[in-house]
Amino acid sequence: MYGSGMMKGFGVTIRNLFRKPVTVQYPEEKVRQSSRFRGQEFSWFEDRCTGCASCAKYCPLGIIRIVTSPSDRHKQDGADFNIDVFDIDQARCMYCGLCVEACPYDALHMGTNFEGAQLRRQDLVITVDVLRKRAKHPSTWYRPQLERQDFDPYKQEADMQTVAREPYYWHPKRPAMLPESARKEATADGEYK
Ligand code: SF4
Ligand code: SF4
Repeated sequence: MYGSGMMKGFGVTIRNLFRKPVTVQYPEEKVRQSSRFRGQEFSWFEDRCTGCASCAKYCPLGIIRIVTSPSDRHKQDGADFNIDVFDIDQARCMYCGLCVEACPYDALHMGTNFEGAQLRRQDLVITVDVLRKRAKHPSTWYRPQLERQDFDPYKQEADMQTVAREPYYWHPKRPAMLPESARKEATADGEYK
């Protein structure tokens, strides 16, 4: 009885002796996150954004600031807005994703990065210029359309068509919003047939 208990104990020791170490030498090594990971850098697609500010209204912490001004574009369709300011204060962000859920046009997505340390608190504010320039690696969280495409944010970048729930075939006068194949079929005055 006593001996079998010892053998069991040794068995556990021997099994663990050959187990692969689980410690990761960060930052040299990184654990791969899930594609649904809600990372700290947001992916924003300006061409999809109307400036409606739903994301800002739904943020429980009120850390998104949007300022728009009327543009001269698409006046015949009711015009659209320039996005002059789109600040996200990630120092206070809790990555709940409610802003992403609230966006009616799939313009805003959680990102996948988690390394955004800064020396000064104010440098943690993500500005519209940063959002415009940064590579788009949207998380697949809350985006079944990305999962349907097996989109891998760690290997791929997304464009505004990739992140769309539906293709923009319904909008005949904006060839820029159509997929490349359909754009070729658009007539000179922008009518899609
Ligand atoms: S993830 Fe949550 S806390 Fe962060 S900006 Fe969006 S709604 Fe606000
Ligand atoms: S990101 Fe979405 S919710 Fe926010 S202003 Fe643009 S369209 Fe509206």
